[in-house]
Amino acid sequence: MHDATDCDAVVIGTGPAGATAADVLTAAGWSVVMLEKGRNHLLALEEPFAPLGHVSNDEIKFWRRHFLGPDPFLEPRTYRRGEHDGDRLFSGEVNNLPSTLGGGGFHADAKLPRLRAVDFKPLSELGPIDGADIVDWPIDYDELEPYYAEAERLIGVAGDAEANPFAEWRSGPYPMPPGPDMFGAVLTADAATRLGYHPYRAPTGVNSVPYDGRPACNNCGFCGHYGCPIDAKGDPVAPLRNALRTGRCEIRAESYVERILVDGSGKRARGVRYVDAHDAVHEVGARVVVVAGGAWESPRLLLRSEVANSSGLVGRYLMYHFQTFVVGQFPFPLHGHRGRSVTHLHDDHMIVDDDVRTFARRHGLPYFRGGLTEHGGGGSPVMEGIYTAPGRAHTNEMLESSMRDHLWAFTIQGEDLPQRTNRIDLDPKIRDVYGQPAGRATYDVHRHEVVASRYFGPQLEAIMREAGATFAFTATSPPLEGDRAGRRSASMSRHIMGTCRMGDDPRTSVVDRWQRFHDVENMICTDSSVFPTSTGYGPTLTIVALAIRACRELAGLPRLRSSRPAETGRAQV
Ligand SMILES: Cc1cc2nc3c(=O)[nH]c(=O)nc-3n(C[C@H](O)[C@H](O)[C@H](O)COP(=O)(O)OP(=O)(O)OC[C@H]3O[C@@H](n4cnc5c(N)ncnc54)[C@H](O)[C@@H]3O)c2cc1C
Ligand code: SF4
Repeated sequence: MHDATDCDAVVIGTGPAGATAADVLTAAGWSVVMLEKGRNHLLALEEPFAPLGHVSNDEIKFWRRHFLGPDPFLEPRTYRRGEHDGDRLFSGEVNNLPSTLGGGGFHADAKLPRLRAVDFKPLSELGPIDGADIVDWPIDYDELEPYYAEAERLIGVAGDAEANPFAEWRSGPYPMPPGPDMFGAVLTADAATRLGYHPYRAPTGVNSVPYDGRPACNNCGFCGHYGCPIDAKGDPVAPLRNALRTGRCEIRAESYVERILVDGSGKRARGVRYVDAHDAVHEVGARVVVVAGGAWESPRLLLRSEVANSSGLVGRYLMYHFQTFVVGQFPFPLHGHRGRSVTHLHDDHMIVDDDVRTFARRHGLPYFRGGLTEHGGGGSPVMEGIYTAPGRAHTNEMLESSMRDHLWAFTIQGEDLPQRTNRIDLDPKIRDVYGQPAGRATYDVHRHEVVASRYFGPQLEAIMREAGATFAFTATSPPLEGDRAGRRSASMSRHIMGTCRMGDDPRTSVVDRWQRFHDVENMICTDSSVFPTSTGYGPTLTIVALAIRACRELAGLPRLRSSRPAETGRAQV
């Protein structure tokens, strides 16, 4: 079936990247059609765009039954470490983010830090590392600052602008003060401070007070991995609602984009072809195509479309965050199931000091960086039941809850270096339920990540013991030792980046500094595919800030500017 719909822009994906694009473009007067392969559980598409009420604090629904999709049996992905593994080691769930209206933003717990100036210039500031293609970003922090501020206002970020001594300058405070602290985080933050680290209240895209017509968070405790039953999380509800309110945005859920349609040269996009929930095939013609399927699905879609790829880099430089988990068990309950999933962070394990350089040199590296460290609660009840041995003692152990209520965890979102051999491409055999080739990750860690983890893990164990834990241990994702099939080497990270890297040179990058494809004149990418390096910070605020910047430029809106006052180190707009 042919659908003659015509619009200024067709946006593929409704996560933070797509929702932000729709918001900016509709505000600029553009007509936008958004296509989302997942179902709509988020908000009514008619005024007043109320929450649908499908969300509940139900662990089985969200963790086991793929309520927000994708079902890995219907949409498998495959994984191998390198070509030496053959076509694949594993097929099924690989780094899945929700496939649903709102994408991963719908259920993330939304710690939303900014990058620091050094993160945009790692090659100039820190230097190269053998085996990795570290590059500078084509933009810098000062240029992105006003867009960060705009992103924080759009989503509604609660935070304390003075709390993190490593943070860059800002043009203003956060829109909201931080919400209440979790009990366990107070213990580990105090212990970290005593040992010389600098924990701070996490900037979070969750309302601490009523904001933008949505209520304050009630700290229900089912935050990360769950949608918010009361819409206290702003991303991507806020931009989607803004776009719908203009009357110029149409959202079509359960619409799987099969192909981006291009002219004969592959250098001009005409629109997209998609299949709906009833297997009917449609085409949407558009002046501009906005690719926002996430850093895994975007390259997969591009590679199966006849889009020009002169650099051969679409899909390459796949990056995650190398996660180091330090778990501590306490002799008393911590109530980690109450509150947002994470209320405190520290940046210390990203700072390259003399001790880091000495340890690095001993391991054949010039330097290394870890990542943002999250102070978070233990697991959830069904998960605890699965990991508690069956038998007569089971009930008592569940009541005691030593495997949940007595646990606390640090997670380092460690920087993952860009390697050309790490990539997304199309699996030669496995297909999804739509008949399209599955995406395949070829991924192995760089020694940098391993050395950083081995250095910082013991420091976190010491903080955990200082906080009162009777014992602490360290694990990583991907694990440093896999099983014999190598299956357990797959990363569990949901921070996915780098597969259409941004740069000025079309020979070494896929999109330019405005996120326009070098090869396709009327197509942009607004998701984290464009990140040239992974940094050690969660990607989402940077995705949103970059998308605002790219889409304002696309729509011909004035560039945003802010300036930094010389004396205070803090900026004025
Ligand atoms: C539990 C959890 C916690 C997280 N916490 C944080 C955090 O604290 N801080 C942080 O920065 N990040 C966090 N993240 C990561 C965050 O969710 C992602 O960075 C973010 O969602 C990426 O946004 P995106 O729009 O690029 O992609 P996505 O959110 O993945 O959205 C892409 C959308 O495109 C759709 N799509 C893809 N292909 C097609 C197609 N062919 N046709 C139609 N639709 C398509 C998908 O279904 C999806 O809905 C977390 C993730 C998880 C899972
Ligand atoms: S903890 Fe707050 S933001 Fe998170 S799901 Fe519950 S009410 Fe929503």
